[in-house]
Order: sequence, then structure tokens, then C-alpha cells
Amino acid sequence: MNKPRLATIALGGCEGCHISLIDAHEGLLELLGMVDLVESPFTDGDGTIPPCDVLMVEGAVTNEADERRLLAAREAAGTLIAVGSCAVMGGIGGLRNLYTAREAIADVYGADKPGEGLPPLTSSVKAVSQVVDVDISVSGCAPKTVQIVDAIKAAVAGEAYDLPRKNLCDECHRTKSKLLEHSADFVTDSVYSIMELDTIDPDLCFIEQGILCMGAMTREGCGARCTAANVPCRGCSGPSRTDFEQGAKTIDALAAVLPAGALMYLDDLIGTGYRFSMPVSVIPAAYDHGGDEDV
Ligand code: SF4
Ligand code: SF4
Ligand code: SF4
Repeated sequence: MNKPRLATIALGGCEGCHISLIDAHEGLLELLGMVDLVESPFTDGDGTIPPCDVLMVEGAVTNEADERRLLAAREAAGTLIAVGSCAVMGGIGGLRNLYTAREAIADVYGADKPGEGLPPLTSSVKAVSQVVDVDISVSGCAPKTVQIVDAIKAAVAGEAYDLPRKNLCDECHRTKSKLLEHSADFVTDSVYSIMELDTIDPDLCFIEQGILCMGAMTREGCGARCTAANVPCRGCSGPSRTDFEQGAKTIDALAAVLPAGALMYLDDLIGTGYRFSMPVSVIPAAYDHGGDEDV
């Protein structure tokens, strides 16, 4: 009996999501026993996606070549899985949407067009779902290996795959008492980076130590791997509900623990709150770039 055909494609990203898939190690053998891998950055093909049952897409649409490849791949594929924050939300590169493509090119190349042989940039960075229909989304930068493998297995079996819906604080091991209490006092009056403090309590909530952590505004599922390693969450799994604006939720949550004025002293509040989700947020619509075009 023919096995289901699996293809993977990398658009505008860093290929870290494919590396996360490779991290399955011997689990890859099990997966490859279930499917025929017909095209992938791991194979010797030319990147053209042939007819396939399941397609994993990494990366955002950042240029016209990405867009053409994605549209053709969608035509060829059955179930499409968007993997990683770039594919699901636009990702870090989506912060370009604060500027026009022309401004970004001028800043990077000091010219009015990308270098010779490079495809024209799309006027904005787009998540995969802003170009084609997506069946399964697995956010994270990069998603955990087990999440990618489970999503592929579910797609191959024709089953649904859903990410958890609670926020990261739910799976974070750190003690959080003040964060959950109603109080007239603010939890902290300043925000520090981890570099500014001599000591960090490894078992106390970062917010309660005055360190910005995005856990309350971020979907659980990664195992709170950063806070377990004594690093605050940066929000890479995206908002915990699809209808949340992650950046607006950041301001909302911080306003509950910080005096309002302290928010004004946070450098780059937009870039912090929307670090991974700018293209799917309300922010680009709020910026009138005036006559945006591909460049
Ligand atoms: S989501 Fe992260 S790991 Fe995946 S392609 Fe984008 S930047 Fe790389
Ligand atoms: S805010 Fe961060 S450190 Fe505090 S409980 Fe939530 S995830 Fe953990
Ligand atoms: S703790 Fe936050 S930044 Fe770290 S992997 Fe999880 S969601 Fe991403």
C-alpha cells in the first residue's frame, strides 16, 4: 500500500523549525516509516512541491518568490501545517511591517532595490494564513520537536491537532503569589533586564522580581523551557487565545503590576509585545504607509 506523501518547504525564516524536526533523532525513523518524504530542504530536489498529502510550511512570506512558491505548494498539498512563529504569525521578521519595504531596503542595502538576483520584497511580511488556507498551526520559535512530529502524525492520520489554550504561567514552576492577589500596591515599580540584576531568584516569578516576562500573554505548551532555564519568556508561542492581541495584552497585564508611568520607560514596548506576531496584529492596519508596493 502506498504511504501518505509528506513534503516540507522553508520560506522566509531561519530553518530552525526544520532543525527542530531533525531533533526527533530516532523518532524520525518512525515518522519516515509512516510517510514518503517527497520533497524537503533535506532532500536533493529543486524545492518544487509535487502532489502530497501533508505539507509542512516553515517561514513567513517576505518576498515575491516566497509567495509564488507557497501558492503553488498549496495547490499541490492536502493538509497544510504552518510550523513556527514565522509561518503562523509572521515572526521576528514581521517587525519589518512597521516600515515600508522601500524603507527597509534603504536601511539594509543603502539602495532603492534589493541586491542583484534577489527577489523583490513583498510590501509587507505575511503569515502563511494571510496568503493561503492553513489546516493546522504549530507556533513557537522553534516549536518543540514533539509538537511538530505530533502535528505531522495527526495530519497523516486525518486527525485534528490543537495547541493548548492556557497561558504559560500555568505550566511555569515559579512561585507567583503577588501576581495573583488583588492589591492596592503594585507588584513592582520598575522593569529590569536580567543583565541589570546581580541575582535572580530561580524559583520566584520574574514579574515579581521586576523582570519583564511574557508568560501571562503567551500560550503554554513549550514546557516553560525558558523560565526553567532562568530566562524570562519572550512570547514566541504567540497569544494564548487566537483572538488575543499579544502586544495589547502585554500592556494590559503590565498595567496591573506596574505604576502606569513606568510603562512609558519601557524601551520598544511595541517590539516587545508584538515581537513574533506583528503581521497578524492590528498594528500594520493602524500604520498608514501610504501607497505600499512590492519593491
Ligand atoms: S519560527 Fe523561529 S526557528 Fe522557525 S523559522 Fe522562524 S525564526 Fe526560525
Ligand atoms: S510571568 Fe513568567 S515567571 Fe511569572 S509565572 Fe508567568 S511565566 Fe512564570
Ligand atoms: S518560554 Fe516563552 S519564549 Fe521560551 S520557548 Fe516558551 S513560549 Fe517561547
